[in-house]
Amino acid sequence: EVGRFEGNGVHYFIREKGYFKGKDVIIVGGGDSALDWVINLIDTARGVTLVHRKDTFRAHPNTIQQIAEYAKKGRINVITPFEVKEVYGDDVIKGITIIDGTGKEADLRTDALLLMLGFTSDLGPIEKWGLDIDDSRIKVNLNMETNRKGVFAVGDIANYPGKLKLILTGFSDGARAVKSALPYIRPGDKVRHVHSTSLKIFSKTS
Ligand SMILES: Cc1cc2nc3c(=O)[nH]c(=O)nc-3n(C[C@H](O)[C@H](O)[C@H](O)COP(=O)(O)OP(=O)(O)OC[C@H]3O[C@@H](n4cnc5c(N)ncnc54)[C@H](O)[C@@H]3O)c2cc1C
Repeated sequence: EVGRFEGNGVHYFIREKGYFKGKDVIIVGGGDSALDWVINLIDTARGVTLVHRKDTFRAHPNTIQQIAEYAKKGRINVITPFEVKEVYGDDVIKGITIIDGTGKEADLRTDALLLMLGFTSDLGPIEKWGLDIDDSRIKVNLNMETNRKGVFAVGDIANYPGKLKLILTGFSDGARAVKSALPYIRPGDKVRHVHSTSLKIFSKTS
C-alpha cells in the first residue's frame, strides 16, 4: 500500500530540501536520520511531525535534546509510541493512520511521509565473489586486503577488529588500501610515502 505513494508523497531519503517547502511533513523513525531531518526541515516545511514507535530515541544525545526543545516550543509535533497503520490518499498521499500498543488510533493529515527506519546492508552480487563475509561485511586484514589477493575493501563495507563506521576511518582505510595495492599495479616500483603538504602546489607563496 505504501508503494502506491512512492514518489507521490512517500519518500525514503531527501534529494531536494526545497521540495518540502510549505508542506506538512511527517517523519517516521527514531534514529539519527529521522531526528536530523526533523531539525533540518523546520524552517522549510509548513509543519513537521515526528512519529516513533518507542518513547525513547536512538540518536545523538544533543539531537534528542534539540528535538525536545523544539517540541516544547511548539515548533514540531512529536508523537510516541505510535506506529503507522495505514497510508491513504488518491493520486497523492493525503494522510496516515497511526496506532499505539493499546490499539488507540489517530489520524494525521500530511503532504509528505518520510520513512527513515534505518538501512539494511545488502552485498548483492559481491556476496558471490568468494570473499570472506563477516557480519554482512567484507573481512579484510590491516592492509585492507580481502582473502582474495589483489581485492581490497574500504569504508563501511570493510570489517576488521575495532572497525568504526565513520567517514574518517573510511579515508584511513582508503589510504592504506592504495598503499597496499600499489605493488599489484606497479610491481617492482618503490612505494614512496609523500604528504600532500609537501607537494609543490602548497609551497607557492605570492
Ligand atoms: C544517519 C547517519 C549519520 C552519520 N553521521 C556521521 C557523522 O556525523 N560522522 C561520521 O564520520 N560518520 C557518520 N556516519 C557514518 C558515515 O556516513 C559512513 O561511515 C560513511 O558514509 C561510509 O562511507 P562509504 O563510502 O564506506 O559508504 P557509503 O557512504 O554507504 O557509500 C556506499 C555507496 O555504494 C553504493 N552501493 C551500494 N551497493 C552497491 C553496489 N552493489 N554497486 C555499486 N554501488 C553500490 C551506495 O549506493 C553508496 O552510494 C553516519 C551514518 C548515518 C547512517
